[in-house]
Amino acid sequence: MSIHSTNPATDGVLAQFDEHDAATIDRKLSETSKAQREWARTPIAERMDLLRRVAQTLRAQKSDLAPLATLEMGKPLSEAVGEVEKCAWNFDFYADAAPGFLADEVVSSNATDSRIAYDPLGTVLAVMPWNYPYWQVMRAAAPVLAGGNAMVLKHASNVPQCALALEDIFKRAGAPAGLFTTLLVGAGEVAGLIADPRISAVTFTGSTPAGRKIASQAGTALKKQVLELGGSDPFIVLADADIEAAAAVAVKARFQNTGQSCIAAKRFIVEQAAADRFVDAFCEGARKLHVDDPMQEHSTQGSMAKRHLRDELHAQVQASVQQGARLLLGGSPVDRPGAFYQPTVLDHVTPDMVAAQEETFGPAAAILRVSDADEAVRIANATNFGLGAALWTNDLDRARKLSRRIEAGAVFINGLVASDPRLPFGGIKESGYGRELGKLGLHEFTNTKTVWTGPART
Ligand code: NAP
Repeated sequence: MSIHSTNPATDGVLAQFDEHDAATIDRKLSETSKAQREWARTPIAERMDLLRRVAQTLRAQKSDLAPLATLEMGKPLSEAVGEVEKCAWNFDFYADAAPGFLADEVVSSNATDSRIAYDPLGTVLAVMPWNYPYWQVMRAAAPVLAGGNAMVLKHASNVPQCALALEDIFKRAGAPAGLFTTLLVGAGEVAGLIADPRISAVTFTGSTPAGRKIASQAGTALKKQVLELGGSDPFIVLADADIEAAAAVAVKARFQNTGQSCIAAKRFIVEQAAADRFVDAFCEGARKLHVDDPMQEHSTQGSMAKRHLRDELHAQVQASVQQGARLLLGGSPVDRPGAFYQPTVLDHVTPDMVAAQEETFGPAAAILRVSDADEAVRIANATNFGLGAALWTNDLDRARKLSRRIEAGAVFINGLVASDPRLPFGGIKESGYGRELGKLGLHEFTNTKTVWTGPART
């Protein structure tokens, strides 16, 4: 079987790779296992030095890495540059913070010494999506490696060159051979990898249906897992908010990465008293998006990553219009080669419509009008997902109280939901479980060990 690298903005084939065969997979897993055992015994200061060198290498290779991501999955080049820089920040962050996160915690010391120690788990299998082809992987890799583990990457099949480029970054940074390795394999190989005794744990980012399968396989193998799945994030705008500012941020929250972000705002829940003003300002902002070849500097919305995802989004938009949503902007594929879709705005969406019920993974916004804050929270929670949420109001006291009623892994008040190396990231409900980033993200893939020492006996 072969893996194709295709430019979704032109439909042109960029490269083709043979999938790794069983012997190659076996060799790579053994090499990674060996590297992990040595890495676990490497002094922490040396481990942090490698993290810093990875950050430096990412920055040094930025002008090669960024266009590669744009070519393979269609995001605007400027966003790809920002993605590489964020990966470097994450490695620098953990290089500074991990020694503190991993330090023993002494619980009591009288005649005895009780402490919590954080040991490595082993080799972590990362099954990753294409939407942030570097960030999704490196967000997980920095804490995994900092904790003394190794990583085996099975990346999405449409970004094989990005996957190999990441393996190369670790080589250039001087990582031990195999400590971070890429397997070029399809989804069908994942079950066998999870069952392999050389794999100790699994981190998965991707769709909820694939997450269910991986969760059950990891459950059968009794291996620790972190799942970062889909989302249908609400963006609540109350009437007392700065409506123009909310609308400007809302455009970014929905359309960045061509709308293909798990934490993109997907349902704009707006208090009726401010809805017309918000909708006008939001549509004005969306109209200014420049949909073009993502390699062009002026392009602010590129191609979607795959044609079939573009077609699925179009079907969701059409179904919602048939259900009574009002199409204010866009609503069609762009008439050119590639998987381009017009920035699309649907107004008067109701909670039962497709655009509110399903995850819309592309540049289409659903606006739902509500009578007050209580209805806004009720509708925000009327979803199977629970990843992020944004809440706009100038009454910060009320905002903090409302934030506790919103069922999500994160609430951002007067801002857009974003990942940040310093803060835990993850969801509840069908958006997954476990946390990445911050201290919790590092501890997910460690053995939290109790070490109790009684007095020496003579
Ligand atoms: P996907 O189809 O689930 O693919 C993600 C990864 O899983 C790919 O490597 C894919 O491999 C693999 N995969 C797919 N089906 C599998 C199966 N049955 N068993 C084992 N592995 C399987 O997701 P996607 O369409 O690429 O990405 C979009 C989805 O990811 C959206 O739902 C989005 O919300 C979610 N996402 C979540 C987060 C988060 O942090 N919560 C972040 C980004 C994206 P192949 O490519 O070889 O099929």
